[in-house]
Amino acid sequence: MKLPSRVTICEVGTRDGFQIEPDFIPTDLKVEVVNGLAEAGLPLIEVTSFVHPKVVPALRDAEAVMARIARRPGTVYAALVPNDTGAVRAVDAGVDEIHTVVSASESHNLANVNMTIAESLDRLHAVMRVAERAGVRVVAGISTAFGCPFEGAVPVSQVERIVARLADMGARGIGLADTTGVANPLQVTRVLEHLAPKFPTLEWGLHTHDTRAMAIPNVLAAMAHGVTHFDASIGGLGGCPFAPGASGNVCTEDLVHCLHAMEVETGIDLDRLLAVSRRVEGIVGRALPGQVVKAGPYTRRYPVPDGIAHRLPATAE
Ligand code: ZN
Repeated sequence: MKLPSRVTICEVGTRDGFQIEPDFIPTDLKVEVVNGLAEAGLPLIEVTSFVHPKVVPALRDAEAVMARIARRPGTVYAALVPNDTGAVRAVDAGVDEIHTVVSASESHNLANVNMTIAESLDRLHAVMRVAERAGVRVVAGISTAFGCPFEGAVPVSQVERIVARLADMGARGIGLADTTGVANPLQVTRVLEHLAPKFPTLEWGLHTHDTRAMAIPNVLAAMAHGVTHFDASIGGLGGCPFAPGASGNVCTEDLVHCLHAMEVETGIDLDRLLAVSRRVEGIVGRALPGQVVKAGPYTRRYPVPDGIAHRLPATAE
C-alpha cells in the first residue's frame, strides 16, 4: 500500500457541521471548540462561513467568532465564502485562507447558492480578485464532484471544465467534494487519474461525507494517488440540507486514529481531539457518529475475564 508519510487535515465541523445545527450555538461555545481544535494540533480549521446571515442564520456570528478565537501560531484559520461580499467580510475579519464552493451539477448549485454554475464562476472570479488584493490564498471546493442527489452521475468532463476555470482564475488548490457520500474508492481513483495529470500545479484535496460508510476507504484511495489534504469534521458532525439522511463529513478523530495506526503523521494529538469530540457532543446535546470516541483507540486493553487468568501459560520473568 502506497501511503504518504504525512497528511494535512482541515477541520470543517465548525462550518459544515454547525451550519445545519437546528439550535443556534452560542458564539462563546463555537470559539471554545475552535480553540480546542487548534490546541489539539489541527493545522487548518474552516472556522465559519461568511454567507448572508439570512441564508445561514446558524453562522450569523462569523465576525464575532473570528474576533474572539485565540490565534495559535502555525494554525491556518480559513472560512468559506460564497461571493465577493463574503470575501471582503472574511478578509476584514482576518482569515488566513478563503474557501469557495461551486457544484459540478447545475441543480445542486441552484439549490445550494441560487445561481447557475456560470453565475457562480463569475462570482468566484470576483472572490479571487478580493483575495489576491489581500494576499489571501484561495482553495476552491467543487461540490457533487462524484455525483449529485438530484441528477445522479456527474461526468468527469464537467468537473474538469470547472477545475480549468477555477485554476485560470487563480485557485491554488481544488477540493473535490463528495457532498452526499456517493463516491466509492474505484471512482475516486478514476477521477484523480483523469484530473491530476491535467493540472500538475494544483494541490488536490478530498472532502468526504460518510453517508454510506465509504469516506475512509475513499481517503485511502486518494492517498494512494498522492492526495494529502483531507477535510474532516469533529465527531462526524454535519449532513446535507437537500439529502435527508445524509450524514456528516468523515469523522476527524476516526480518520486521525486510522492514519496514526498506519504511521501516517498528522501533527494532531488524538487524546486531545477525543476530548474536543466529547465536548462537542455535550454542546449539540446528542451522540455523534464517531466510533473511536466510543470504542477507544485500537491500543486499548481490557482486563482478562475472571476464571481464565489461572489457565494462561506462565510468562517468562
Ligand atoms: Zn460537506
